[in-house]
Amino acid sequence: MNDKQLLEFVDNYLQILEKKTPKYDDHPELKGDQKTKLPDVLQKAIINKKTKNESGNTDLICPRCGTHNLPSNEKCTNCGLKMGEVWEGESWEEVN
Ligand SMILES: [Zn+2]
Repeated sequence: MNDKQLLEFVDNYLQILEKKTPKYDDHPELKGDQKTKLPDVLQKAIINKKTKNESGNTDLICPRCGTHNLPSNEKCTNCGLKMGEVWEGESWEEVN
């Protein structure tokens, strides 16, 4: 690698570093330096890791009995309330 190539390499590297944007900087899952020092890719990875449950899915909470259900269920596994059906003014709630 000659000097010119080295400079180009450094330049490209700096450009990659500069690509970090404030996209996730205010995300509540990020703490301290994570908000400002990390590139988006890493911030996104942290956010994903913290907001997904073990199956990687979003749970839905039954408004009638409070049971966590998988989005793939057709109805509540505990009380049988149909997914998406409103119960006494309460709707299904998504949780991570
Ligand atoms: Zn239920």
